[in-house]
Amino acid sequence: MADPPTTSPLDRQSARRLDEFYARLQQEAENFIGYPCNADFDYRDLFRFLAFPINNVGDPFVPSNFHLNTHAFECEVLDAFRELTGASGGDVWGYVTSGGTEGNMYGIFLGRELFPDGLVYYSEDTHYSVSKILRCLHVRNIMIKSAADGRIDLEDLRETIRIHRDVPPIVFANVGTTMKGATDEIAGIRQIFDDLAIPSHYIHADAALSGMILPFVADPEPWDFSAGVDSISISGHKMIGSPIPCGAALARRQNVERIARHIEYVGTLDTTLSGSRNAIAPLFLWYAFRTVGVAGFRRNIERCLETADYAIERLNRAGRHAWRHKNSITVVFDRPAIEVASKWQIAVHGKIGHLITMPHVTREHIDRFVEDIERASGQ
Ligand SMILES: *Cc1c(COP(=O)(O)O)cnc(C)c1O
Repeated sequence: MADPPTTSPLDRQSARRLDEFYARLQQEAENFIGYPCNADFDYRDLFRFLAFPINNVGDPFVPSNFHLNTHAFECEVLDAFRELTGASGGDVWGYVTSGGTEGNMYGIFLGRELFPDGLVYYSEDTHYSVSKILRCLHVRNIMIKSAADGRIDLEDLRETIRIHRDVPPIVFANVGTTMKGATDEIAGIRQIFDDLAIPSHYIHADAALSGMILPFVADPEPWDFSAGVDSISISGHKMIGSPIPCGAALARRQNVERIARHIEYVGTLDTTLSGSRNAIAPLFLWYAFRTVGVAGFRRNIERCLETADYAIERLNRAGRHAWRHKNSITVVFDRPAIEVASKWQIAVHGKIGHLITMPHVTREHIDRFVEDIERASGQ
């Protein structure tokens, strides 16, 4: 590898453009409270690895002909995720994805390969990407009503499954919905299978954000492999934090074996959705597990929940009807004025908006935000 140049090869004008862009990002990062992406990380130790054309093509657990990879680190990251998701022994497989969406696509793909005539059920509050995934996979599907708090309406699910009890249900369960942070009741879903005597079924858990919250709280809603789900998707750039979007797909090994194909060209198993895969993101995740670690995540989550309660108190004093679910750091409140939503990058949906108290969000952010809300409503 050549040493990095001491002077930039960019012309002056282009260099200035980058400097201005950098300053703009620094400024925008000051008001970043509406999306669930942790900004609190420092991966400087790893920048030297950007000098190699690394690529994690293929199954992380199988040796391949392409040696410039970080599979060994990826496997350690997956071991950490397996431990956090109640996977026992070696019966859960996984890989590092490009984000939560790819992990969700993987879960539904496995469910459909297992049950080609299966029907996918998902609630109204499900992430917007899922209807696109269902179109891509061309699988039959039915949307189920949500309760006002964002959880799937189990009575509507029960009645709909009853009508279609001749085909295996593939339930797409939310573990922390995007807008309200609601977790669907996995035990209630399994009870429906039992009550209707449905022997073949599949549950995928979309745990994009909450998959890195629930393992660290005292009284988590049942959500993982020990609760009986068959696959899980977790985002890496949300609670853990990464400058490159990433995530983990985890699934029961026997289901993955049904879709695995051996490919001579790369000398490995084609068990992943993408071919070439990002090899730097697994290093970031590995670094986070080694530096922050389980104890650090637990402390972070505790602080995030405290900040969420602080935000609820401040917003309610300002008359904004704020609330959150028990183990969620997504604070829901009355939709703010457009200029406030834009300045603070607040996601809005109908009558509500939310902020998410990720590890980089402080009480001082909340104070400034609530002041802006009060000013905008002329209080
Ligand atoms: C963010 C999110 C996704 C999508 O994850 P990406 O990493 O953005 O692809 C899916 N489901 C839920 C509930 C999410 O919050």
